[in-house]
Amino acid sequence: MDRGINRRSIHLRSAALAIALVAVAAPHARAQSAATFTRVAPDLYFYYTGGAANSTVLVTSEGVLIVDSQGNRQGAEALLAEIRRVTAAPIKWVVNGQDHGDHYLGNAVFKREGAVIVAEAQTAATIARNYAYELEWRGLDPARAGAHVPPDVTFRDRMTIRLGGRDVILFHVGAGQNPGDTVVLFPHARAAYPSGAFAPKSWSSTSYASSLDSWIAVLEKIKALDVDMYLSGHAHLVTDRAEIDEEIAFLRELKSTVQDAIARGLTAEQAARSLTFERYAKWRNADRRATYVRNVHYLLRTGRAIYFDYLDGRTTLKPY
Ligand SMILES: [Zn+2]
Repeated sequence: MDRGINRRSIHLRSAALAIALVAVAAPHARAQSAATFTRVAPDLYFYYTGGAANSTVLVTSEGVLIVDSQGNRQGAEALLAEIRRVTAAPIKWVVNGQDHGDHYLGNAVFKREGAVIVAEAQTAATIARNYAYELEWRGLDPARAGAHVPPDVTFRDRMTIRLGGRDVILFHVGAGQNPGDTVVLFPHARAAYPSGAFAPKSWSSTSYASSLDSWIAVLEKIKALDVDMYLSGHAHLVTDRAEIDEEIAFLRELKSTVQDAIARGLTAEQAARSLTFERYAKWRNADRRATYVRNVHYLLRTGRAIYFDYLDGRTTLKPY
């Protein structure tokens, strides 16, 4: 059995891991930005932006593999500069862990460097067609955004990339936050990068999910992975699975509260205004709460994700 996706419950070896992380961590804070590029295993780096999407980088003698390419050309160039501080090896692979612009709009920079871009099939299909809207709602100037570079290679359930003697396992973990939610496993480092589905202490976008229950099921799968650390696509490095439970509890509360509002006859706008979720007021993206509550209201009434309905022309309501 592949230990990378072994679902037996493993207790985190937190104390030992904390010591190991202190021993290998070498953050390089940039003067102009909050981003840090931290070595979390001998050949694995976590690029933590402190606000925008993160990336993870495997550095081998044969080349480099990057998960998530940043949200614009400048962000990708900044990541590339960090990588060049530790290796001159060619950039071989870029994985787009999800179809949100902040995880793929930097693709052009790494394509220029010779990388092959890979994504799960549904993720790739959305990336192929959502470029204009992703630029629009993120307020990015098309003239400055650079070329649209969708993935070159797709996979359905699972793909293993062998690079420099390391196996990197990409697998579709189910439809959670997004139809194509992808986790990238680095079994040798006992690390996983869940690009979108797991972002602790965060109002993750509810615009793409077709079911909050299946999102919770995806989180349960992520929790059962046989790893010691989660390099989240949007948060700090996580070693305590209680942070996954916290996100599950949040999604349960979000669902039941909006469901109750619908039962009481509240419109989407009324729900968005009155359901303030004070307990989560300090979480990342809390300023998007009203939009995300409205989107859950839409989901629970229609059974469909507002983002894809908008792309398909089934609604004129903008997801953002
Ligand atoms: Zn994101």
